[in-house]
Amino acid sequence: MVVLEKAPAKINLSLDVLHKRNDGFHEVEMVMTTVDLADRIELTLLDQDKIKVVSESRFVPNDERNLAYRAAKLMKEHFQVKQGVRIFIEKNIPVAAGLAGGSSDAAAVLRGVNKLWGLEADIDELAELGAEIGSDVSFCVYGGTALAKGRGEKITHLPSPPPCWVVLAKPAIGVSTQTVYQKLNIKQAEHPDTQAMIKALEEKDFAGICTHVANTLEGVTTKLHPEVNQIKEKMSEAGADAVLMSGSGPTVFALVAQDARVHRIYNSLKGFCPEVHIVRMLGNRETTC
Ligand code: ATP
Repeated sequence: MVVLEKAPAKINLSLDVLHKRNDGFHEVEMVMTTVDLADRIELTLLDQDKIKVVSESRFVPNDERNLAYRAAKLMKEHFQVKQGVRIFIEKNIPVAAGLAGGSSDAAAVLRGVNKLWGLEADIDELAELGAEIGSDVSFCVYGGTALAKGRGEKITHLPSPPPCWVVLAKPAIGVSTQTVYQKLNIKQAEHPDTQAMIKALEEKDFAGICTHVANTLEGVTTKLHPEVNQIKEKMSEAGADAVLMSGSGPTVFALVAQDARVHRIYNSLKGFCPEVHIVRMLGNRETTC
């Protein structure tokens, strides 16, 4: 038996860091939405009691460090499953990019082995389990558009943004989320107006969404990697409606309403950035292949 799952990347329309908690995590408020750049996860039932990860990406570990492996292990232990699974990951999402690629793979495995092993857990239970793997996994279990609070695991679903193009550009650097949080000065950083972003989504107000994109972590990453600002400038000059760094970076995204501008923005980045993608905002909760 084989189960296929789509593991879409996310972007942060807004990301606010409120304060550092006593448990070491940061309290955040993030408005996230999925885009149609996705890893493809193929799960094959194994009769033996083992988990095997196969990925052709040299940036992703094929052992128990892989978040997809950890998701399968968690499900096995939680539901006392005796069967195994072979997890094949077709990696299309840039790694360590601020696009939650690993979290989305883990979420896809939670959904997928639930079907493969006939466990019948509901999606809220999978999202709750996902929080044990990583802060973005709960959101990725659902996909779509949502407000994520707490350390990212408290999810409130939101209306999807109006359809538009998204240009993603990742410079040839990886960013450690941990380092960015360590260097963040919460008081001095820029903070988004999360409520205004939510209102814009509720009103399907594309201009409002563009006005309110903001990311508290952006200032830290741009200081470490000035390329991020150069990408933002190039995108703006080429006619993007909004530009922002996603997550802790370094990927920058442009929101673009007009078809005619998308290729201009893409071309302005091609050659400057090794990874540039034109994708659509997914917005809805589409997670099957
Ligand atoms: P986030 O936006 O949630 O901070 P990210 O997009 O910045 O995530 P990932 O692509 O998820 O980062 O990768 C972060 C690290 O996790 C990498 O160093 C990578 O080696 C490791 N990793 C483990 N499993 C995976 C996976 N399935 N896909 C990608 N990276 C993985």
